[in-house]
Amino acid sequence: MSRRKLIRYGAGAVGAGSLTGWLGSSSIAKAIDPPDNSSYSTTIAAAPGEESDLSPDEALQKLMNGNQRFVENKRRNPNQTLARVEEVAEGQAPFAAILTCADSRVVSEIIFDQGIGDLFTVRVAGNIAVTEVIASLEYSVGVLKSPILMVLGHKRCGAVGAAFEGGEYPGMINSFLYAINQAVEDSKGRPGDPLENAIIENVRVELKRLSLSPVVASRVAEGKLKLVGGYYDLDTGAVSLVSYNA
Ligand SMILES: [Zn+2]
Repeated sequence: MSRRKLIRYGAGAVGAGSLTGWLGSSSIAKAIDPPDNSSYSTTIAAAPGEESDLSPDEALQKLMNGNQRFVENKRRNPNQTLARVEEVAEGQAPFAAILTCADSRVVSEIIFDQGIGDLFTVRVAGNIAVTEVIASLEYSVGVLKSPILMVLGHKRCGAVGAAFEGGEYPGMINSFLYAINQAVEDSKGRPGDPLENAIIENVRVELKRLSLSPVVASRVAEGKLKLVGGYYDLDTGAVSLVSYNA
């Protein structure tokens, strides 16, 4: 990877964590990315019914490379043909588990330039790790052996904004606001934009909740899984990494 790209990612990082851990050599990028050919229907390491053979760092690199293509308007739309449908009909081996928001603008397969069978995505307003959400993600990382688990928050998240502003909402909407309140409280008083701070803190809170799952923890302890935070910029399409210490 070029120094220019390194700087670019670095400049876009939220929370200023070290990026050197996942920014590998260009040889890794070549191996994990689909060729620039729209008829290509498969990716490396996605044999049906088998676990991904990507390491956690390679899986993260693959995600971020896909987002870079999206931002540069160079999507390859891998694994989106009928041939791919047939290939994974009998089994799946998603290389990433993603918890993100139900917001209509945060569509993981598009913003990471991936396809069918690549991402095990759970979407719920505010990307909150409540019981059934944790269960779904445990299935991805514990049974399907996905090597990366990302919690992806996003700019101007309405769910976090609602918790931030407080008040009463109709129906059961308040139920998910309760889950976000901790992040709102924890992020108060920090420099910068208060809502953005709450959104980023919420990513960390949900990662912490996920890390307490024995299924998740055992995969992490084996070195087979990494938890990472992300922040999606609605204005640019770019995903930045959110620093997180387990
Ligand atoms: Zn949202």
